[in-house]
Amino acid sequence: MRKNAMLTLLAAASCFICSTGFAQADDALMTAANKKKPEFVRDLATLVNIDSGTDDAKGLGQVETFLAQRLKDLGAKVEIVAAPPSAGKMVLGTLQGKGTKNIMLMIHFDTVFGVGEAAKRPFRVEANKAFGPGVADAKGGALIVLYAVDLARERGIDGYKTLTVLFNPDEEKGSAGSREMIRKLSADQDYVLIYEPPEAERVTVSTNGIAHVNLSVKGLASHAGSAPEKGRNAAIEISNQIVQLKDLGDPAKGTTVSWTVIQAGDRANIIPDKASAIADMRMSDLSEIARVQADADKIVQKKLIPGTEVSVKVEYGRPPFSKNPASDHLAAVADKIYKELGKSIVPVGMRYGTDAGFAYNPKSGKPVVLDGMGIVGDRIHSSDEWADLDSVAPRLYLTTRLLETLAKPDSE
Ligand SMILES: [Zn+2]
Repeated sequence: MRKNAMLTLLAAASCFICSTGFAQADDALMTAANKKKPEFVRDLATLVNIDSGTDDAKGLGQVETFLAQRLKDLGAKVEIVAAPPSAGKMVLGTLQGKGTKNIMLMIHFDTVFGVGEAAKRPFRVEANKAFGPGVADAKGGALIVLYAVDLARERGIDGYKTLTVLFNPDEEKGSAGSREMIRKLSADQDYVLIYEPPEAERVTVSTNGIAHVNLSVKGLASHAGSAPEKGRNAAIEISNQIVQLKDLGDPAKGTTVSWTVIQAGDRANIIPDKASAIADMRMSDLSEIARVQADADKIVQKKLIPGTEVSVKVEYGRPPFSKNPASDHLAAVADKIYKELGKSIVPVGMRYGTDAGFAYNPKSGKPVVLDGMGIVGDRIHSSDEWADLDSVAPRLYLTTRLLETLAKPDSE
């Protein structure tokens, strides 16, 4: 998912990796990455032309087979793991190395598009841009993972203890069936890199969490023509409540609460006895859930229509990936690597939610998580979604060099 990006200032980081530096480009690696590009684009066409919406078991199954086979070809031990209630399964690959650090690369392979979308607008390339459903979000990202692991293998990079690859089939619908696996695997990792698409040369160092505020009103039905005074109008009460509850957000904390769905009554001649509303809530601070619930509980006590019952419940969806020094530090390492290519990377905080929220544990501050590692692209979730093919080789270079760098015992 991708909406507004907020530039996040990067805290000055000093550390072993940053101070020793590696200004010299690894030309052989960049040449190898560039060589893989035509094959990468062919694979991207194959994946984009298979519909794999979150509910499309058949399409997800085909992509799953592709990803599993590639991981096997790379020498990984591969497991296919069911992810109920999701329609697709998770593809989990593990490679053993010779070092001490556990590193996981992960991304989803479902899209927001339905069956028939790929036939309507199949993969196509115009100049340096590739188009098609899920081309950037996140089929391009899945291939960055596979090709970077391939480059690392070719170059004998095996300084990690384990290198885990997780492809999940349900991110676009909240990762209901994969979130527990993400949490469990992440708890054992030193580093988790996530391959959502950045809009430009960026990486994501924080994302918002998501919740819903559910509001409901119980009133009393009555004939709107002959006895309106005998009813308790739930529509009027919920309107009153929404006006009262419109400022639950806290701009200073980055919390937004936006009322987006309202339902009441379905016949013009009945005073409605039920009404409900939903607000979309985004937060970067988890304690905001309890704060919003407490504030809302207080506010709804004040009613306009006597005799109505009002209840409000904050329902927690995806946790935030909170801004933290370790992710800022890792972004600085990524930037240092990009500088070898004469480029730079900007760390950003995103207002949408991703699986980074399940990977990162704010209590322990572990593992070190970095998102936005995928192919550069924009207009995602729309029919204009595109991926920047010029970003393929630099992004492969970045992940391969990170695998080389982070796997060293002295990289912390
Ligand atoms: Zn995505």
